[in-house]
Amino acid sequence: MCGIAGIYSRVPTTMVPVLHDMMVMLQHRGNEAAGAVFYDGDKDWTYERSLAEAGNSVAHFFKKLKRKDLKTTLAGAHTRYSTAGRADKIENIQPLFVNTKYGPVAIVHNGTLVHAPMIKNDLEQNGECFVSDSDTEVILKLINLSKKEKLIDAVIESLETVVGSFSVLIFCEEGMIAARDPFGFRPLSIAEFDTGYMFASETCAFDPLKHQMKIMYLRDVKPGEVIMVNKYGLTTLIQLKVKRIAQCIFELIYFSRPDSTVFGRSVDEFRELCGVKHAKEHPLEVDCVIGVPDSANFFADGRAKGLLIPNERALMRNHASGRTFIDPNQNNRYRNVRLKLNPISRRIKDKRIDVCDDSLVRGNTIKNVINMIKECDPESVSISIGSPPFRYPCLYGIDTPDKRDLIAAQTAIKKIAGVLDVDHLNYLSIESLKEIGGSNFCYACFDGNYPLKHNPGITGKIKS
Ligand code: SF4
Ligand code: MG
Repeated sequence: MCGIAGIYSRVPTTMVPVLHDMMVMLQHRGNEAAGAVFYDGDKDWTYERSLAEAGNSVAHFFKKLKRKDLKTTLAGAHTRYSTAGRADKIENIQPLFVNTKYGPVAIVHNGTLVHAPMIKNDLEQNGECFVSDSDTEVILKLINLSKKEKLIDAVIESLETVVGSFSVLIFCEEGMIAARDPFGFRPLSIAEFDTGYMFASETCAFDPLKHQMKIMYLRDVKPGEVIMVNKYGLTTLIQLKVKRIAQCIFELIYFSRPDSTVFGRSVDEFRELCGVKHAKEHPLEVDCVIGVPDSANFFADGRAKGLLIPNERALMRNHASGRTFIDPNQNNRYRNVRLKLNPISRRIKDKRIDVCDDSLVRGNTIKNVINMIKECDPESVSISIGSPPFRYPCLYGIDTPDKRDLIAAQTAIKKIAGVLDVDHLNYLSIESLKEIGGSNFCYACFDGNYPLKHNPGITGKIKS
């Protein structure tokens, strides 16, 4: 998972502060590294990237950026959460930027191209070499190898060839190309301002600048849509063939910010609905709920509403520490949970507590949370999860590549409450989640029904 943003302006504009603000709003989507590219509309490109320092990718990157007063027509940035390619390798940091036979091209990508290793292998056999081990480089390589006359056609051909999840922004001298894969796995939203357009992984990125720049959220890039933004405005170049829309339900459950509208849904409202539904499914006799901040706050609100009990907000989140789930280092995760959350004991003591979390993936955070809560002498502790058991690894951009990491894949559901040492553990049923989400979603990590039938290691068949 990553955060991407791009800006096109007909008139050269100082874009660094704008891009900075957008990327700060997207930092929850990845915090290992960041980079940006700028084009002044007259042959001058500026390109920088850096690994995060002191647990911060975006602030560190923009502090280091040398040319802050650039006036440009194009700007694009990426904050990284590695799902393909090593986290600490500078060559893997995006944007990727190359001189193709069509001229300079830069790309930022959110998603995972499931067949990239095989395409890479084929191309390497034919004498091509790659500088990164990022799947994204395959898109650039295919563009450069295309026999098409125009860059735009080469880009379309490349996007038709790769398989998997991609929301991409591609920058060239003419302007910016935006695209989402035909399943629409990852989000990508469009906003308009006085002199151009901006794109971002989530709508929250537009909000801080809304009034200052008169930004208006327009719509999302559609699944399979390829858009060009240039001096003529915004044009849909092509609609790639869509067999099934399979937007990632986990974006709404956990990943996206609650102040975003993702896939046309208000994230906060979606989570609250899950809470109300969960309360109907599991009407436990408890005194209060406690949401695990921040991602479970709205689910906890919904469950409290449904049960007519208070949400005690008895866990304080330390905002100086990062998100635990997206830390690529397993050992660091345990320590980080203790630094991240601290309980308020007087809100817990002698009460029947129902701890609400949005999802249970590895089980690290919740184990520590339960221990913390128990140190405050509650009468009893149960756990409510705002999604079904997470049993299958995600192949489309969330870092859960191995079934061995998934607590619900390794332990019988009835036994998990015992492992976590709580009285009850209740998940939201898959039926209820599907009722709230609807049919245009991927639920594969819950039901094993992967939208792509030919995943790597299963067929080895690729289109190249
Ligand atoms: Fe999202 Fe789960 Fe599908 Fe991955 S498998 S895209 S996390 S819904
Ligand atoms: Mg959480």
